[in-house]
Amino acid sequence: MYAIIGAGIGGLTTALAFKKLGIPYHLYEKAESINAIGAGIWLAPNALKVYEWLGILDQIKDAGNSIDRITIATADLKPLTDSRQDEAKEEYGYSTIAIHRAELQKVLAKNVANSNISWGKGLESYTETNKGVELQFLDATTTTVDFVIAADGINSVIRKQLFPESKIRYSGQTCWRGVTEYKLPEEFNHRGLEIWGKETRFGISKLSKDKTSWFAVVKSKPFLTDDRETLKEDLLKKYNDYTTVVKDLIENTETSNILRNDIIDLKPIKKWYSDKVCLLGDAGHATTPNMGQGGAQAIEDAYFLAKIIAENKTKNAFEEFQKVRYKKVSSIVNQSWITGKIAHLGFGSIIRNMVFKNLPKSLIDKKMHYVYKLDNE
Ligand SMILES: Cc1cc2nc3c(=O)[nH]c(=O)nc-3n(C[C@H](O)[C@H](O)[C@H](O)COP(=O)(O)OP(=O)(O)OC[C@H]3O[C@@H](n4cnc5c(N)ncnc54)[C@H](O)[C@@H]3O)c2cc1C
Repeated sequence: MYAIIGAGIGGLTTALAFKKLGIPYHLYEKAESINAIGAGIWLAPNALKVYEWLGILDQIKDAGNSIDRITIATADLKPLTDSRQDEAKEEYGYSTIAIHRAELQKVLAKNVANSNISWGKGLESYTETNKGVELQFLDATTTTVDFVIAADGINSVIRKQLFPESKIRYSGQTCWRGVTEYKLPEEFNHRGLEIWGKETRFGISKLSKDKTSWFAVVKSKPFLTDDRETLKEDLLKKYNDYTTVVKDLIENTETSNILRNDIIDLKPIKKWYSDKVCLLGDAGHATTPNMGQGGAQAIEDAYFLAKIIAENKTKNAFEEFQKVRYKKVSSIVNQSWITGKIAHLGFGSIIRNMVFKNLPKSLIDKKMHYVYKLDNE
């Protein structure tokens, strides 16, 4: 029996992959239910391919919105890169889907049997023995399983116990995310837009017929909090020289629907597993959101881990899992970290913009396909 800890994107997808391949599991989640307050997330073709394999792609498409053009632009909307996703559509059958996180979690959770998931069951610690792993929960109960998949996110209690030397890195940037029912001009309906200013960034994507998600990133010291009374005014000041749609979006978002998080990742660790415990998704390799790939990599993890366990070819499935996944994940973590730095250049922004405008299409396509392909296909 496998215990999966955490019913986020990675844990729920692992549950569905285990279900498909007949691997016995139970999922334990700290929260009492899915949190309805949240932001949008992009699911790139590599993630969608896994959901197609799981037979739930149509449910996800119905709950989200297709992004058919991805543009990085200057504050006055002049494109730096502009990628129509027709090629991705041709190659993979779909482009990217933008979806509200809660909607994605709902689709995933409704496909997991109620008897396989316990909500409100937070893990406190574990003990690995020759016979299995004893799990100690916050409600003072315990249970013993054969193996544990730690999908408990960037602040994973399991990783902290297994690798206490692991470290979270602060990127020097903080991010506000909002969801609004403001009606976007039609030209933005299927377009993912990221606008790069001087030391600031703003992103827009429509999530469904009536919801649009945005993010605003600035350089900042860590752990700062907002005055919620003046938050929108403060944001409007920071984005004063941006195009009107940016200001309209901020103005038309309820303050209660604006979240703030410092942008962090996990300093890459060398090992993701012990004999009976394996880290998955953000617990093992949290990345900055600059490439929109953290969730997709957790989803890829679920796919490969389930296949490796089910094929049962090797004695140590967790070692094999890391072998298969480590190179791509590390490349994304590093590239994403660098992209974040480039996006926030101050004086260097003019040179940056010139370089980006002149990037050869073949290079952009090569990078895109490396990320969008499931490895080993
Ligand atoms: C601003 C921002 C934008 C992003 N945009 C994108 C994007 O567009 N595309 C993309 O692919 N990725 C994106 N990401 C990354 C993505 O959100 C994460 O990589 C993804 O959520 C990781 O999934 P996970 O299941 O590993 O962890 P999480 O989603 O964090 O889930 C962990 C789960 O474990 C539970 N848990 C925690 N501790 C315990 C415990 N002790 N016991 C039991 N349960 C526990 C939590 O409640 C949670 O449900 C973004 C991230 C940020 C910060």
